[in-house]
Amino acid sequence: MGVPSGVNIWSFASGSDGNCYVVESEGTSLLVECGRPYAQIKDFLESIGIAPDELSGILLTHAHGDHCRSARYLSETHRVPIYASCGTLGALNLAEVSLGRPLQSHQTYPVGQIDVKPFAVPHDCREPLGFRFESGTGRAAVATDLGWVPHNVVRQFRDLDLLVLEANYDPHLLHTGTYPYFLKQRVSGTYGHLSNAAAGEAIAACGDRPPNVVWLAHLSEHNNSPKHALQTVGRILRRQGLGHVPVKTTHHRRSNLRWTSAVARERQLPLFA
Ligand SMILES: [Zn+2]
Ligand SMILES: [Zn+2]
Repeated sequence: MGVPSGVNIWSFASGSDGNCYVVESEGTSLLVECGRPYAQIKDFLESIGIAPDELSGILLTHAHGDHCRSARYLSETHRVPIYASCGTLGALNLAEVSLGRPLQSHQTYPVGQIDVKPFAVPHDCREPLGFRFESGTGRAAVATDLGWVPHNVVRQFRDLDLLVLEANYDPHLLHTGTYPYFLKQRVSGTYGHLSNAAAGEAIAACGDRPPNVVWLAHLSEHNNSPKHALQTVGRILRRQGLGHVPVKTTHHRRSNLRWTSAVARERQLPLFA
C-alpha cells in the first residue's frame, strides 16, 4: 500500500449529495460512509493507494441514501463486510447477510488495527450512529447527521486528534431560504441536522480536552457556506479560549482534506533533519 504508517484520514465527499471518508492505520483501511457513486469511490480509493478488495470494512452511520448509496454493491462486489446498526443493515436489504456486521452503541469492535466505538446520535432514521476510532497512533471521531449533541456524545469528542463534526446550517440562511416550511422544520428539529452554533458549542463543551483538529462536515449547499461555518464556530471557540484549535471545512464532492497522525509525522521528520 502506498500510504505512510500511522493513522491517515481522508475526506472524499461530505454533504447531502453523498458522504465518504477513509480511516487507515497500519494496513487496516475502513471506508466510512459509501454515499457517492461506486465508480467515483473506486477511483478515489485507488488514487490514495487502496484497492477496494483491500478494504477491511465499510462503516455506515445510518441508512439515508447520501451515506449508503453504493454500500451494498461495493460490499458484494469486493466481499467487504458492512459494519452498521441492525436498523441500518435491515434497511439495506443485504442479499448476503454474511457480509453484515451488526454494531451496538458503546461497545468496542476491533477491526484489524483500529478499535471502532459506535455511539448513538439523534437523527430521523433507525438506530443512527457516530463513530469513534482508536488505534495505537491516533484517535478520531466522525459525527454527522444529528439534530443536537447529547452529553454522552460530547464525551466521545474529548481527547481526540481529529473530530469530523457536522456543521449543517446557518439558522438565518435556513429560515430566509427557499426550503419549504416542513423541510426547514425537519432540518432544524431535534432529529435533523446540526447548526454551526451547535457544532461550536459541542466542541467548546469538551472544556480543557478539546480535539487537536476539527473538520466541519456535511455543510448544506443551500443553507450554509464555509465562511459562515468557520466564522460562527471560530467565534464560539475563541470565547471559550479555544481559538488555537485548527478548524477546516470539508468539500461536497471532492477530496480536500487529509490528516496524518503525529506519530507518522514524527517518523517522517528524520528525512528532513
Ligand atoms: Zn446526510
Ligand atoms: Zn441523514
